[in-house]
Amino acid sequence: MRPAHALIDLSALRHNYRLAKSLTGCRALAVIKANAYGHGALQCAAALNDEADGFAVSSIEEALDLREAGHQQPIVLLEGWFEAAELELICRHELWPVVHHHGQLVDLREANLSRPLHIWLKLDSGMHRTGFSVAEYPQVWRELQGSGKVASLTKITHLARADEPATGRTEQQLETFTQATAGLEGPASLSNSAGVLAWPGAYGEWVRPGIMLYGSSPFGFAQEQAAQLRPVMQLDSRVIAVHQVAAGEPIGYGSRFVTSRPSRIGVVAMGYADGYPRHAPDGTPVLVDGQRICISGRVSMDMLTIDLTDLPNSGLGSYVRLWGDGLDAGEVASRAGTISYQLFCNLNRVPRRYQ
Ligand code: PLP
Repeated sequence: MRPAHALIDLSALRHNYRLAKSLTGCRALAVIKANAYGHGALQCAAALNDEADGFAVSSIEEALDLREAGHQQPIVLLEGWFEAAELELICRHELWPVVHHHGQLVDLREANLSRPLHIWLKLDSGMHRTGFSVAEYPQVWRELQGSGKVASLTKITHLARADEPATGRTEQQLETFTQATAGLEGPASLSNSAGVLAWPGAYGEWVRPGIMLYGSSPFGFAQEQAAQLRPVMQLDSRVIAVHQVAAGEPIGYGSRFVTSRPSRIGVVAMGYADGYPRHAPDGTPVLVDGQRICISGRVSMDMLTIDLTDLPNSGLGSYVRLWGDGLDAGEVASRAGTISYQLFCNLNRVPRRYQ
């Protein structure tokens, strides 16, 4: 068997969910969209089933998979996309849609629903991705409230830069939210992971932690609360070949890395077809038998190369950690010019094992 695999620690997932709850004292939707950021939505939902107040997914398809697996908690459809014909499906399975544009209001007006819906009404407080404007929000709220089609209304907005506290943007968004929703009675939901970890004034009644559940910090700097997270995914493989090369020899595609000394080059079963970022530059860290060394040479489809010269006791068969305990996925991501979210979501082909 190919040695590349991702070990998913479900007790770490539970620890991180509990951290979100204990920091905020709020109900928490476990954001398990996109296959739980690559960690396996059904396995993560099962691990959280006894304690999760609700789940958040992108699509009806993802929500129906959870219902089919027996999960009875609220499921919020974050992306808020549905066709008029799908409203009945949403009703029947008691899904909670986010409503964020006028077309949805028209569909709701015309729909003959079998039961009232729990709706999360989205305010665009400054991110300018989805949501009703400040000017239209109160009117839309009142229309829905009086429609007889709503079981409950929750105010939702999304923070664009909660991971960058110094920008002042989050304060502006919170102020906009307060103004636009003044006098509208009902629960609110404002915070993603960065909000949960760093913005105590932005909790509302429901928080929506995503990346922090998987043990990765949304911040590009050391942050006190994020330091309590435990990584959930260990991406591991092994060295499958070792060879000695002279100084001045190029390694791999494009000859990007050229040895500066006689070197022992190790080949690891892990490549971009597994989801490892092809853009990881020379110098991106890996752990070999627990010791930190670097990628040397361009990542190829199934393999990558590392410089083992400084680890004389490691070689063929040695264990290689690409990220996880001891090596933060966020560090690898930042080296490769991306974020840990994308590394996790891009994971492909490697079998996931659960513990
Ligand atoms: N809420 C909404 C509306 C989102 O789109 C997302 C993720 O993209 C989240 C919450 C979770 O964000 P994070 O993973 O940064 O906690």
